[in-house]
Amino acid sequence: MLHPARQLSVSFHSELYKFVPEDHLLRKIHSAIDFRFIHELVEQSYCKYYGRPANEPELLFRLLFLQILYNLSDERVVQETQVNLAYKWFLGINPEDLVPDASQLSRYRNHRLGASQVEDILKHVVRQCIEQGLVKSKAIIMDATHTQGGSPKQRPLDVLRDAAKRLFRVVSKRHPKLEKKLPKPPHVKSEQADAAQIMLAYLASLGETVEQLLPDHEGAVSEKLGIARQIVEDERLLSHKGILSAFDPDARFGWKSISKSFFGYKEHIAMTEEEIITALEVTPGSTDDGKQLSVLLEQSTANGMNVNEIIADKAYSGKDNLEKMKTETITPVVPLHPIVHEGGERQEGFEYNKDADFVVCPAGEHSIRRAIQGSKKTGKSRSMVYYFDIEKCKACPLQDGCYKSGAKSKSYSIRIIAEHFKEQIEFELSDTFKERIRRRPIIEHKNAEMKRFHGMATARYRGLFRMRIQAYLTAFVVNVKRMVKLNEQKQPALS
Ligand code: SF4
Repeated sequence: MLHPARQLSVSFHSELYKFVPEDHLLRKIHSAIDFRFIHELVEQSYCKYYGRPANEPELLFRLLFLQILYNLSDERVVQETQVNLAYKWFLGINPEDLVPDASQLSRYRNHRLGASQVEDILKHVVRQCIEQGLVKSKAIIMDATHTQGGSPKQRPLDVLRDAAKRLFRVVSKRHPKLEKKLPKPPHVKSEQADAAQIMLAYLASLGETVEQLLPDHEGAVSEKLGIARQIVEDERLLSHKGILSAFDPDARFGWKSISKSFFGYKEHIAMTEEEIITALEVTPGSTDDGKQLSVLLEQSTANGMNVNEIIADKAYSGKDNLEKMKTETITPVVPLHPIVHEGGERQEGFEYNKDADFVVCPAGEHSIRRAIQGSKKTGKSRSMVYYFDIEKCKACPLQDGCYKSGAKSKSYSIRIIAEHFKEQIEFELSDTFKERIRRRPIIEHKNAEMKRFHGMATARYRGLFRMRIQAYLTAFVVNVKRMVKLNEQKQPALS
């Protein structure tokens, strides 16, 4: 149950707040941003008439804000706030008041904020920046960065074992009477050749039994059952290319370069030249950066931006992207990659990774070599051909429609665009382009700030849903910090 925003009665001890310095960062943040939108944002997620009175949503949001700002765990932010005068002042409570406990914080994050379009918090901060005249630029800079998943990568057999163990345990704990009706785990040894297949069959049958016994399952049972279902349906699991963790089934392998990989998520970011993040998308680590251009552009526009220029690296120079920018009269300050995907001609499921310069196929295998094909003289119809390891294709469960049995090679071609995009090639040589592209690296500083100071190097929680909440909260916090800076720059310097 959510009460209308209440006015706190100020206690005698509030006198102590005079010891919080006037130039304390939290005082500046408090005057830079209006947090009142939070009440309206989460209102829908509360029951109107029943339940215990909810802690003030704005108070809990401010607590989450402190957590990200100072990079603290749920428990630590509560402990610190209990004894920190500036934090309590920022929350709007009296010095002697108790702080909500850590479990309330996680419930609020997942069930209130998560359930109510967490991306709206970004919209509100961007709009306030525009209203305050802090954003003047019509250019957005795009980039992607990675976050290491919160769980380590597992072998397929361990993924299956752990998923089965977790589902069995949660059902037995919540419904002890059903334990006897659940199929017993098989005794398989890791060295057994068919161990993974046996566990896969067991997990499938355990999932079906739980569905039959508990058709109205909810909460933790639904969550574990959902993970089990996802794992059973993953065609790439047994080839080590699909789900790689029973604890974090959404995390995926991505490549930072040809020799450096990571296991986790990618954050795709659009930012103004004033360094205000206007759009954010979170995907599993294997996602192609270039495909997010439209998403980031649409989100930036929906958040109130009027975009007339996009500055990004060559990963965004795909044909579809260049055409989209042309249609929307947006200047593409995007260096052309020597090869550019031909939009619709791309074969489903193949992803080009510009950092590693290889192609990843639907089975998660990456190409092992590449070669240029076509006429050198005319430069027309030239393609970059990426070759896959034929031995892997022969044993691939997804070879249907991809690899013809008996074929001596398996390749994937990408057209070299020398004969296309002449206009863009000319623009790339211009002084305007050279000057504007110099603005691109500022987004890398923003990525570094989010990782170094606000915990985005590693996922705090498991799963894409929670990763999204973490990323949006972090973007909100760095934007508010930036608002403070921009406001200070607006003030005339005191002589
Ligand atoms: S057949 Fe080869 S290229 Fe095609 S999905 Fe399988 S491993 Fe990848």
